[in-house]
Amino acid sequence: LLRLDGVTVRFGDRAVLDAVDLEVPERRTVCVLGPSGSGKSTLLRVVAGLQRPDAGRVTLAGRDQAGVPAHRRGVGLMFQDHQLFPQRDVGGNVAFGLRMRKVPRAETERRVAGLLDLVGLPDAGRRAVSSLSGGEQQRVALARALAPEPQLLMLDEPLGQLDRTLRERLVVELRELFRRLGTTVLAVTHDQSEAFALADRVVVMREGRVAQTGTPLEVWRRPASEFVARFLGFDN
Ligand code: ATP
Ligand code: MG
Repeated sequence: LLRLDGVTVRFGDRAVLDAVDLEVPERRTVCVLGPSGSGKSTLLRVVAGLQRPDAGRVTLAGRDQAGVPAHRRGVGLMFQDHQLFPQRDVGGNVAFGLRMRKVPRAETERRVAGLLDLVGLPDAGRRAVSSLSGGEQQRVALARALAPEPQLLMLDEPLGQLDRTLRERLVVELRELFRRLGTTVLAVTHDQSEAFALADRVVVMREGRVAQTGTPLEVWRRPASEFVARFLGFDN
């Protein structure tokens, strides 16, 4: 479904993404792992159409995305820092993409309630987002990204601020949900166990380059370099 060929992004004379090739097959989940600053969020922004690559090509469903604006790409992005709409309540945030797409009201309400249930906030629909804790806001952002059921769902550290119990539960439920909906997912995490639990394939990044890609088991068993081995080891 998604393909990147030689995608390069430079800030000044530094290549933050350096000729990245990557593929996400339909209905699969790919997790991008890598140290802080290795270019993970930039990668998602390029696919979402929020950052223009200096070189290379992004292809979605067989179509070159050069010049296609963000809102026409059919991708959902959950930002690392949530970016909820402070003036809308929780339900309004989750419903946002559905209202944009003119989904009927009853269907919207049904989906919003189901998603708030999924993320463990069934009674929060009317609350102001400013009254939520960081982890609760993260769960609302996740529900908002899931709501429009995009062809490609991109998640940037979706569970980063949650405690372990909640994270383990959500990982299982998300995997189940993605299977059921047939969602194609590109997720960023620096939590190795999360990546290994969610992903069909993992991509390890280092300084803007792909250091290794493979199934979780392949990468775990045979790290391609000292860097990958050490990165996985430190995260254990
Ligand atoms: P983290 O795990 O901390 O979120 P990341 O892998 O998501 O890191 P990016 O946000 O993609 O990293 O950033 C990669 C590098 O590009 C960083 O060194 C960052 O400072 C730099 N960078 C990102 N955006 C810009 C920008 N607009 N101008 C200049 N440098 C930028
Ligand atoms: Mg990031």
